[in-house]
Amino acid sequence: MLNRRSFIKNSIFAAGAASFGITEITYANAGDSTRWALLSDTHIPADRAEQVRGFSITKNLDQLLPQVAESKPDGIGITGDIARLRGLREDYAVVKVYVEQMNKIAPVYMALGNHDNYKNFTEAFPATPGEKAAVKGKHITVVNIAPMRLIFLDSLQITNNTAGLLGQAQRNWLDQYLKESDNTPTLLLLHHSFGESDGALLDDIRFFKIVTDQRKVKAIIYGHSHHYSFAKQGDLDLINLPSTAYNFAESVPVGWVDATFTASGAKFKLNAVAGNQADDGKVTQLTWRS
Ligand SMILES: [Zn+2]
Repeated sequence: MLNRRSFIKNSIFAAGAASFGITEITYANAGDSTRWALLSDTHIPADRAEQVRGFSITKNLDQLLPQVAESKPDGIGITGDIARLRGLREDYAVVKVYVEQMNKIAPVYMALGNHDNYKNFTEAFPATPGEKAAVKGKHITVVNIAPMRLIFLDSLQITNNTAGLLGQAQRNWLDQYLKESDNTPTLLLLHHSFGESDGALLDDIRFFKIVTDQRKVKAIIYGHSHHYSFAKQGDLDLINLPSTAYNFAESVPVGWVDATFTASGAKFKLNAVAGNQADDGKVTQLTWRS
């Protein structure tokens, strides 16, 4: 199913090739898929030696970055809680070292989480790749990369306070943007999880109201919980990324996800560097809603 689109394309090539008596077919896949390294909840501390629940945050990063490089991604996405806890300038100084390292692999796109600080983040990163949305005080990035469109939203409400909020201005922007944009399969990436918890995205019902009927939106990718899971909201896919830093329960992996997106679906490979590594290398395939 993942390769349906390229299969159809290749079948056409095959028919054409056959009529010219060519037996060997070269598969032209450029633009049929895009590969991404998905990281979340990096919690990078000012003090590189800092450990949480026995996990060394920077050691995990040092271990996973060569794996990310090896995967040759088109982009690297970080869904928030980039900084340790309070989004300090000192945290972002270390974040910057890692992001510069990652930028040598592929452009890095970031969504802010509840442990980030907008002011300190934008001071540390005055210029980041991708198109920016003009919503005051919010870091929103649109990435058009065939065959997909990825939109990084900003659910940071108050630094070091668990709950998140997109807010009316960002919701209005998203609503308008989705109404006016073409039918490119779209993924939304943000930090917060959804549901009843007071620590989740507080305007999730209003968010889903905007997103649910926009059939071009195929999936929502987020972090916050430090859990790795796949779920559905109606027929919309929800992908919860693990933390690269530490887990909250022994049963949960710590690591990153190697994702390949096509217009019809996606493949996610877990790379567990710490925590529960039983599912390291596990591949999960999804077929998008149509
Ligand atoms: Zn976190």
